Amino acid sequence: MVTAAMKQVKMKTASPASSLDPYRIKQDFPVLQQQSNGRPLVYLDSANTSQKPQCVIDAINKFYAHDNANIHRGVYDLSIRATKAYENARGTIAKFVGASRPEEIIFVRGTTEAINLVAQTFVRNRVGQGDEILVTAMEHHSNIVPWQIVCQQTGAVLKVAPINDAGEIILDAYREKLTAKTKFVAMTHVSNALGTVNPIAKMIELAHEKDIPVLVDGAQAAPHIPINVSELGCDFYTVSSHKMFGPTGVGALYGRLDLLNAMPPYQGGGDMILSVTFEHTTYNEVPYKFEAGTPHIAGAIGFAAAAQYILDIGFDKLIAYEHELLDYATKSLATIPEVRMIGTAAEKVSVLSFVLDGVHPHDVGTILDQQGIAIRTGHHCAQPIMDRFDVPATIRASLAIYNTKEDIDALAASLKNVMEVFR
Ligand code: PLP
Repeated sequence: MVTAAMKQVKMKTASPASSLDPYRIKQDFPVLQQQSNGRPLVYLDSANTSQKPQCVIDAINKFYAHDNANIHRGVYDLSIRATKAYENARGTIAKFVGASRPEEIIFVRGTTEAINLVAQTFVRNRVGQGDEILVTAMEHHSNIVPWQIVCQQTGAVLKVAPINDAGEIILDAYREKLTAKTKFVAMTHVSNALGTVNPIAKMIELAHEKDIPVLVDGAQAAPHIPINVSELGCDFYTVSSHKMFGPTGVGALYGRLDLLNAMPPYQGGGDMILSVTFEHTTYNEVPYKFEAGTPHIAGAIGFAAAAQYILDIGFDKLIAYEHELLDYATKSLATIPEVRMIGTAAEKVSVLSFVLDGVHPHDVGTILDQQGIAIRTGHHCAQPIMDRFDVPATIRASLAIYNTKEDIDALAASLKNVMEVFR
């Protein structure tokens, strides 16, 4: 009999030395070393939020234990060290997304805040009655609602580029939606509900041919795909730290420097000013102009540690492993006749979104939880996608580098058990 432990050893020795070892990686994540409901925790909800490696936890601890002070204002050693660590973090994030200068990185609370910032300080001033803002049919609510607010404020209209039954953008239809009225395009790089990877280089190029600025929501791409905003030529790109092994409450907006320089501030307060009188305020330069108040200093430092952790693993290894794991998982779920996959794009990462015929997704979530398996069920903050596929909710297993084939086997076995109960 081949036990799980033997399989693990077999798989370990079967991997070439140059490939990613998920068992090694898993050891980096303390939270994954626990039991849940009496079973080893199988965490398959990384698209919701990822787990944090020890190096990220250590970076945050070190800041609070040794370097904590407010930044940009103290003349004393501690504050200078804190400022240095925060600005170094900006440099690491700039490197991670391929920005040419650290000033192009604004620390924000996450992708949601980044998109709202661009909506209110860039797009709102550039659109009026009848102008159009284009998104795709596979957006997260945070790349829909901020644009609806701008439309309500200005009389602009939100347009939607359609997707096909596999969950892929229909490029010809997207091209047709780019008209003289289109003033801005906002699109996701990777769909959180389907796993689809959009051909964003082509989509940016098509928008730029008509001089339309583009924002890319990279929340789901960052932990899976190397990002190079300079090569992509996008105008804005957003990432959330917590999706890429960093802490919650922090993220980054990349913006082209000339655009950021021309934009008004988002919020007023300390640190975003050069001088203030009751009559007049002179704003600070970019990026500080957009970082009013005391930022999440420890968060930015942990975020940078997470970005460096990914860079140290290397995207080549990461992509090869995640591709292999997604393929294994897709084949494994295909052995269950009641599974209907939602999102079958040719270019896809990390997400298995599906329904089980005859069983409500929430029931599946609850039963799987009893077996130590954490998956997400619901609309995944992407209700229009649920409408597009005519389902109220899906079951979503989302993968990261710490997941193993045994995690997938546990998921498949539990789904088979669920079907035995409900059949
Ligand atoms: N965009 C996508 C594609 C997402 O998946 C998410 C979160 O799930 C967001 C935006 C929002 O990110 P945050 O909650 O970190 O602001």
